[in-house]
Amino acid sequence: MTELLHINASRLHARIDALAAISPIFGAQGEPGNARLALTDEDRDGRDLVVTWMRDLGLHVEIDGVGNVVASTGPGASVMTGSHIDTVRTGGRFDGNLGVLAGLEVIERVAELGLILARPLAVAFFTNEEGARFQPDMLGSLVAVGGLGLEEALDTTAIDGARLGDELDRIGYAGGLPCPWAAPHAFVELHVEQGPVLESEGFTIGAVTGVQGISWQEVTIVGQSNHAGTTPMRLRHDPAYAAAAIAVEVRRLASTLPGQLGTVGKIDLTPNLINVVPASASLTVDLRNTDEAILQRAEHEFAAFVDALAEAEGVTISRRRLARFEPVEFDAEMIARVETTAAALGHSVMRLPSGAGHDAQMLARVCPTSMIFTNSVKGISHNPAEYTSPDDIAAGADVLLNVMVDLAR
Ligand SMILES: [Zn+2]
Repeated sequence: MTELLHINASRLHARIDALAAISPIFGAQGEPGNARLALTDEDRDGRDLVVTWMRDLGLHVEIDGVGNVVASTGPGASVMTGSHIDTVRTGGRFDGNLGVLAGLEVIERVAELGLILARPLAVAFFTNEEGARFQPDMLGSLVAVGGLGLEEALDTTAIDGARLGDELDRIGYAGGLPCPWAAPHAFVELHVEQGPVLESEGFTIGAVTGVQGISWQEVTIVGQSNHAGTTPMRLRHDPAYAAAAIAVEVRRLASTLPGQLGTVGKIDLTPNLINVVPASASLTVDLRNTDEAILQRAEHEFAAFVDALAEAEGVTISRRRLARFEPVEFDAEMIARVETTAAALGHSVMRLPSGAGHDAQMLARVCPTSMIFTNSVKGISHNPAEYTSPDDIAAGADVLLNVMVDLAR
């Protein structure tokens, strides 16, 4: 490492504010957040703003067939950063947006300083990272690295029934850059932690070692709808009971298997009335672990439980996989680079795995990759109350700047 560089923090914050102003929502205490679901009008407006900034910096902007956008300083294998600008319906201002806008800031700062680098720099934003409208999540980055075919991705149906390819056409983001992309020289993503570990351990920066494996499934239960007063308990085939039993089983798995997380995040009952045994239920199950073998064990135990439950309650239960990603380990040299750069800048830094999925885990399939985490106050995320202090934002962006410049020299 030569001399240490610093980003322009007020310029970065001005861009974060401007992007957040496109699709504002407010939390319980008036905290400003974002609702920018993938490929909606709001997403288009956010994309248009970021692409305008990319062009204003004189970057070469390309859009691929699934709507991923990449802006580079020149041809050839780049030192790339990037993240996403889609959000969940109750999104914060920093999740994803920080990584993209810090990448722009890095490129602007390098130009301002007149640094001559051997490799081009690039910043990308990837389509539908959140998975809040289309599944799987991280869909754009998965297509960019060849993990999912373009046609299959375009045929994905949104929770509102829209087809992904049609929505891309509608908002004007179906581009011609072929997928999979040519591999970058290296990829590093800056992201808020979205968890409480850095704050509780007293660290400013996280050098991310990898990403947990994720298993998402949708469970549909069909039983016998009937009168709540006249149907004897022994004759019931109750989807609501089965859904509740599944939620309890998910908690049991998470509390018995090492490092296992388990969440039932969504339950729908039909017809959802006080005096009716439901006809059907559907729910989602989210299982995560950094250990693939244990994650598989959780999936197997869950499947066996569901089969036994269907038999015992006399309901039919079907399961549909929504997403499945194995745990990812980032490149050892890249992790060390983030760690030493943060330390050289005078920031406290710890190594930790990511609890959430990120675009970087897809890029890790094709090039040396790591991530930089900044502190998330109280670990709150996917909530307008998500907050990272200006000092921590600047710290994370400074690490990104120096890591990218060193990789590109
Ligand atoms: Zn994110």
